[in-house]
Amino acid sequence: ADFDVHSYEPLYRKSLLLHIILLASMIGFGLFFLINFFLLSNSFISFLNFLAFVIEVYAFYSIRKTGSLDIATSIVVFNLFIFLLLLVFIQEGKDFTFIWTIFFPITAIFLMGSRKGIVYSFAFYTIFFTMAYLGIGVWQNGEWNSVSFIRLVFASLILIYVLFLVEQSSEKSYIALKSVREKEKKYLEQLHQSSITDHLTGLYNRRELDNLFEKAFKKAQKEKKYFAFFISDIDFFKEYNDTYGHHKGDIALQEISNVFKQHLHKGLANIFRLGGEEFGGFVIDKDKDAILSYLDTIRKDIETLNIAHTKSTSSKLTASFGVCILSEYSLDDFEIIYKLADKLLYEAKESGRNITKGELAKI
Ligand code: GH3
Ligand code: MG
Ligand code: MG
Repeated sequence: ADFDVHSYEPLYRKSLLLHIILLASMIGFGLFFLINFFLLSNSFISFLNFLAFVIEVYAFYSIRKTGSLDIATSIVVFNLFIFLLLLVFIQEGKDFTFIWTIFFPITAIFLMGSRKGIVYSFAFYTIFFTMAYLGIGVWQNGEWNSVSFIRLVFASLILIYVLFLVEQSSEKSYIALKSVREKEKKYLEQLHQSSITDHLTGLYNRRELDNLFEKAFKKAQKEKKYFAFFISDIDFFKEYNDTYGHHKGDIALQEISNVFKQHLHKGLANIFRLGGEEFGGFVIDKDKDAILSYLDTIRKDIETLNIAHTKSTSSKLTASFGVCILSEYSLDDFEIIYKLADKLLYEAKESGRNITKGELAKI
């Protein structure tokens, strides 16, 4: 039960059961040893009990040491296998001792699983039944007869079968549960993805901007580099829509998004669609002039798409950039950084559009 597994997992149940069986059998073997050694003076039986006790202690220790139940499971099942058959052999069914054999299939099937457990149980019962059959007319002063033998066989087989069914059904339901969990996880992941993605362009949306700002900012801080946030806004886009239609406008937005996407592995840390025809992103670099010239390359790449726009002063679709570069890391209020980039974008628009306007943030 100390394992980091959920309570619905079979491993949890196995661990719990194994600990209970180990604890119970340690107490049992310990007590049997004391009784046989001190009260009954049966040194052979008491020696076996002591041996079993020591082996169970080792099994308990192996769980702590390896963090796995495998060794302990094998030890417990094997120990029980030998001990119970010896008990049958030595006691010859006296004092109701056969009753203890029920613990073999319970332990084997629940700890090893239905398939392996039933194989071990059959092996155990084959030996047990053979011994019991050979004892007919001999054991219990001749009172152990064919009828008692048949009763024993039937009761035992029914027990194994019921245990097998119980374990098998729990295994099946766990497999079903696991597949449901996996599907849920997949759907949740899809849901999460779509909640942070803009559907038209496939870029991150405004919501994800706040989340990723911290990550990018900390990266720049760690690497002691400049951190820049830019806003890019398409020029005369309303006119474009009015001239070519909304659908053409959508296609243009996708084409421009692709330009940004192509830059993602070149120097652009992240790119977002902030809304409408506005994009935003982070750039991290040790050289502040490199940041500006790099973003100006993106601006030129957009221009080079050569998307015709008759109503634009340059007769094609272009975009303006406002870039806020941080000179130190004390300014970590994203609201302020955003406003500064927006102000610079406004200045870029004022100075004629299709330009990149950047500045070190003054605090
Ligand atoms: P400026 O050069 O000053 O930026 O002028 P502008 O026309 O680009 O600026 P404005 O903000 O007035 O217009 C933005 C237009 O973007 C308005 C709207 O029709 C268009 N738009 C916003 N979202 C979408 C979209 O998802 N698809 C399309 N096709 N158009 C959009
Ligand atoms: Mg706009
Ligand atoms: Mg615009």
